[in-house]
Amino acid sequence: MSSAKTALLGVLGWPIAHSRSPAIHTAAFEALGIDAAYLPFAVPPPALADAILGLRALGALGANVTLPHKERVMAHLDAVEPDARAIGAVNTIVREGERLIGANTDGAGLARSLEEAGVGLGGARVLIVGAGGAARASVAGLGAAGASTITLAARRFPRAERVVADLAPVCADCTLTAIDLADTAAMRAAADCDLFVQATSATLDPSAGVAFAASLPLGALPSSAAVVDLVYGPTAVQCAAEARGLRTVDGLGMLVWQAALAFERWFGVEAPIDVMRRAANEE
Ligand code: NDP
Repeated sequence: MSSAKTALLGVLGWPIAHSRSPAIHTAAFEALGIDAAYLPFAVPPPALADAILGLRALGALGANVTLPHKERVMAHLDAVEPDARAIGAVNTIVREGERLIGANTDGAGLARSLEEAGVGLGGARVLIVGAGGAARASVAGLGAAGASTITLAARRFPRAERVVADLAPVCADCTLTAIDLADTAAMRAAADCDLFVQATSATLDPSAGVAFAASLPLGALPSSAAVVDLVYGPTAVQCAAEARGLRTVDGLGMLVWQAALAFERWFGVEAPIDVMRRAANEE
């Protein structure tokens, strides 16, 4: 039963029915006895500006933002944090007084999920495949977590170059390099890394994913390397890495941790990560 002091939160997307975020956050509220409601808001693209005005008018504590609004929402907020600006996407809105601030917890969420799985990021050499929003967040998150080099490979080389140029200012202590996914020599050289991040959508389709996984230099990774596919597993890349005996991390951990970090921004208390993970797995 909601009351006047019930905190209002939600996720804005289109479509939104598939989102696991309402279940993840609701489980956290129940576990900690927090009086809050987190709803899925189906917001068609032309209604985004009105939806943000609605959050303001209703006094919402905050929100998450998902496809297709993560980029366009920035124009409707009072401020956007530097790493979210560099990534070019906001996944979390935080209310500060009357102001709505745009943040991005995806990259830090990936870093936390890897650290939780025992993957050391300090000084790590990383190879990321992909140049979309997930790859951009990964560069920011892993750079901030202490990676020493990040090589970004994309099938459209200019996109990889663009990511490197945009993210370099927030990755000052990390060397960023763009390569072409079709450049097999460069890919084999970059495969001498500590962490391989699959950040394309190519593994969403299981059968196309098998051919895509076979095209990657997974065989050239050192036996000590870890592999994470940001697409929730099991994916063809995850399976191929496991078949080689490599350590793998599921993309679901990034989802859970980005939610936990958003929760902590809104409520200022430690998120009940195990409860949130269980809710994500049950969906
Ligand atoms: P985008 O659509 O922004 O980017 C997709 C990227 O994948 C583009 O660089 C695209 O290249 C590339 N790509 C697609 N197919 C191929 C292919 N066959 N070969 C090479 N490159 C390919 O998506 P996002 O970056 O937002 O998300 C990528 C995936 O990551 C999603 O499918 C999603 O499931 C997952 N994800 C997981 C999250 C988590 O919490 N675990 C969070 C966010 C995303 P091009 O530009 O040339 O088309």
